[in-house]
Amino acid sequence: MNLEFSPEEQAFRDEVRSFIAENYPSDISGSGLRDDLSPEDMVAWHKILGKKGWSVPAWPVEYGGTGWTPTQRYIWSEENARVNAIMPLPFGVSMVGPVIYTFGNDAQKEQHLPGIRSGDVWWCQGYSEPGAGSDLASLKTTAVRDGDHYVINGQKTWTTLAQHADWGFFLCRTDPDAAKPQEGISFILVDMKTPGIEVRPIKLIDGGYEVNETWLTDVRVPVENLVGEENKGWTYAKFLLAHERSGIAGVARSKRAVSQLREIAKAEMLDDKPLMQDFDFARKVSQLEIDLAALEMTELRTLASEQAGKGPGPESSILKIKGTEIQQRLTELTLEAVGHYGTPYYRDLADAGSNEYPIGPDYAQHSAATYFNMRKTSIYGGSNEIQRNIISKMILGL
Ligand SMILES: Cc1cc2nc3c(=O)[nH]c(=O)nc-3n(C[C@H](O)[C@H](O)[C@H](O)COP(=O)(O)OP(=O)(O)OC[C@H]3O[C@@H](n4cnc5c(N)ncnc54)[C@H](O)[C@@H]3O)c2cc1C
Repeated sequence: MNLEFSPEEQAFRDEVRSFIAENYPSDISGSGLRDDLSPEDMVAWHKILGKKGWSVPAWPVEYGGTGWTPTQRYIWSEENARVNAIMPLPFGVSMVGPVIYTFGNDAQKEQHLPGIRSGDVWWCQGYSEPGAGSDLASLKTTAVRDGDHYVINGQKTWTTLAQHADWGFFLCRTDPDAAKPQEGISFILVDMKTPGIEVRPIKLIDGGYEVNETWLTDVRVPVENLVGEENKGWTYAKFLLAHERSGIAGVARSKRAVSQLREIAKAEMLDDKPLMQDFDFARKVSQLEIDLAALEMTELRTLASEQAGKGPGPESSILKIKGTEIQQRLTELTLEAVGHYGTPYYRDLADAGSNEYPIGPDYAQHSAATYFNMRKTSIYGGSNEIQRNIISKMILGL
């Protein structure tokens, strides 16, 4: 693995940096928490990238991908992280898009891929249910064939940003009598405007609103919305999850957050000295940086093997565990650094209709909300305990 960027790759970095500097919408602001942004802001950069042809870099060129090497894609994510760009949501680009171009038929590709590329169609993921998270194959939502429709009944949960979704991809049980629970599941695309779908908000501990319960009552969906074969949905569902997990590592963003943490710890004082000079705190930041450097090497190794033609496999579980642990530790150390300024909850002020500015420096304002929000990362995309099970089975052969 060569860690030096070639002159061509450096030229690519310059091109990307200039494009972002010239085109990234400067009016997108917010706390950095996704649910503090308007839906329009969340897709603004996606739409600009769609016009440029850069919204789905990892897709095959025939479906609108850029043909960039994995190293170029790595540079791309680093450059976006530098400016904290709000990237395209993963549900279309990294999840259902690859499933559709890999397993979907021509009509589905024609209908759905353009809207994912352009950012005009918002997708949500209907996998989890109240009784089926880690044990996803025990899901109970049913899709029963009635002429040329499926009739779907059941409840999904944690459906991220479904309140804005135009379409959803749902795992439904189509054969309740299959020998194994994994064998009777189908992968179905559902227009979220179909009668019988109700999206109910789940209020989170950080005060935000980004997940929902999604109830489906006699939802009639044309059979042509089935992806691939009936009862073979588990295969497509697993394929999608490997793509979802490798995107969660967030190395480039964590690098940016570590630099920010260092700046905060230089500004905050402890016993009349900058916190960054406190031995214990400095040790924790250094350990974090060491772990992040190791994760970056692992990610680069995965990219190198992708360059050699291997898709994301069980290694994505390693990236998911380490990446999310680092993200959580970053928010813990930030909260520790800002001390009592992290206590006032800016959403409480907003909810109470207060026009007062919260006390403390700007960087402290969202630290508590971010800390709470990031607890999710070790749960979603398959919990970290489940990723450890996958590693023990698929990599270590235990
Ligand atoms: C913020 C957020 C957004 C999400 N967005 C979506 C979405 O858009 N669409 C969607 O479909 N889902 C979504 N999810 C759901 C997510 O995939 C599930 O929460 C996750 O798979 C865990 O399932 P569960 O919550 O039912 O926990 P459970 O499966 O009940 O697990 C509870 C605990 O037990 C542990 N555990 C369970 N089984 C084992 C085992 N075999 N070995 C060791 N430990 C085990 C788990 O690790 C966990 O700590 C989201 C979740 C969150 C938190």
